[in-house]
Amino acid sequence: MIPSVMPTYARLDVVFEHGEGPWLVATDGRRFLDFAAGIAVCSLGHCHPVAVEALKAQAEKLWHCSNLYRIAGQEELAQRLTETTFADTVFFGNSGAEAVECAIKVARHFQFDQGRPERYRIVVMTHAFHGRTLATVAAGDQAKGKHGFGPQMDGFDRVPFGDIDAAKAAVGAETAAILLEPVQGEGGMVAADFAYLRALRKLADENGLLLLFDEVQCGVGRTGRLFAHEWSGVAPDVMAVAKGLGGGFPVGACLATERAAAGMVAGTHGSTFGGNPLAMAAANAVYGVIAAPGFLDRVNAVAGVLRRALADRVQRYPDIFEEIRGLGLMAGLKCRVANTDLVDRLFAEGLLAVPAGDNTLRFVPPLIIDEGHVEAAMAKLDRVCEAWSEKS
Ligand SMILES: *Cc1c(COP(=O)(O)O)cnc(C)c1O
Repeated sequence: MIPSVMPTYARLDVVFEHGEGPWLVATDGRRFLDFAAGIAVCSLGHCHPVAVEALKAQAEKLWHCSNLYRIAGQEELAQRLTETTFADTVFFGNSGAEAVECAIKVARHFQFDQGRPERYRIVVMTHAFHGRTLATVAAGDQAKGKHGFGPQMDGFDRVPFGDIDAAKAAVGAETAAILLEPVQGEGGMVAADFAYLRALRKLADENGLLLLFDEVQCGVGRTGRLFAHEWSGVAPDVMAVAKGLGGGFPVGACLATERAAAGMVAGTHGSTFGGNPLAMAAANAVYGVIAAPGFLDRVNAVAGVLRRALADRVQRYPDIFEEIRGLGLMAGLKCRVANTDLVDRLFAEGLLAVPAGDNTLRFVPPLIIDEGHVEAAMAKLDRVCEAWSEKS
C-alpha cells in the first residue's frame, strides 16, 4: 500500500522535534549537530531569535496579501537586495525552481524584446542542478529527474562545466543565454574557475546573450560573500536565489538588471504566494543579520577552520577521501568509499551531512557555527573514519 505521504524521498528514520542554533533534537531525545541545515537552507541555524521575533510579529498582523496590492516587505527586501548586488529589480517566488524558471523566462523575453524571438535556447552545464519543474529538470543534468517523465522541454544545450571552448561552440543563432551555478551543489560541490566565469561573461557580451547564475545554493553568505560570484568579480544579468534567503521559510527570488528585465511588465509573470508578508518578514530578518557588518568576516574565519580541518582529514584518511571541494561553508569531500554509507555512519554518530553527486560528502552548516562546532563535527567524523579504517 502506498504511504499517505507520497514516497518520493529516501528518508532517514528520525523525526526532529526542535532545533537550537546548529543543533537538532529528535522526538526520541537524540541530539544531532546539523551540518546539513535543511540542505543549505537554515542559514542562521534553528530558531534564531531575530528571525523568530520577526515572524511572530508578522504572524499577528497579516499572513497573506495578494500581489494585486503593494507589499511593504517586498519593497524593503528588494531595496536591500538591489543595494547590495548587481541587480536593479527582484521578482519573489517560493522556491529555487521558481527562481530559476523566472530567470529562464526573463532570458527568453529579453531576446523577444530585442526583436530576436528565434533566440530561445540556453547553454547549460554537465552535472547542473536547477530544480524539479519540467523546465528546470530539462535545464539540469540529473538523469533520475528525467527518466519516465516524457518528452523533455526543448531549449537547452548542454556543455561540459568548465570548458569554455565547448561553450563557445554551443552558441548559435538561436542562443538566448548561458545558465550555470558558480559553485555546483548537487552535482558534486565544484566551484567554477574565476577565469572561466570571466570568459563566459565575455562570450555572453560578444553574442548579445544574458548570463544567468543559479545561486540558489551558493548564495546569501554561504561562500563567505553575499553571493558566490562576487569572488570572481563577474556579475550576471540575472540570478536565482532561494535556499538560505528565508533561513528556513520558503522564499525564492529572481534578481535582474534593468536591461535584462525591461520586458517583465504587468501580466508577464506572477505567483499567488510569492513574496507574501510572512516570507518577507523572515527573509528581511535573515538578510539583515547576514548583510550586517562583521557577519561575513566571521563566516570566512570559521569556513577557513572547517576547510583546513577537512583538508587535514583528506591527508589523514587517503583511503576514504580524495579531495576537498567547494567554497567557504559550501564544503565537499570527494570520497573513495560510498558517500551514502558515510552519511549513514555520521548520522549514527550524531552529525548530519548530505550526499552530493560524483560521490561527494557535503557539509553545508548554518553560517552561525563557531570553531567549537567544527571541532565537535570533526571528532564525529574521526570516529567514523577510524572505525572504517580498522574494519578494512
Ligand atoms: C536546491 C536547488 C534548486 C531547487 O530549489 P527548490 O527550492 O528545491 O526548487 C535549484 N538550483 C540549485 C543550485 C539548488 O541547489
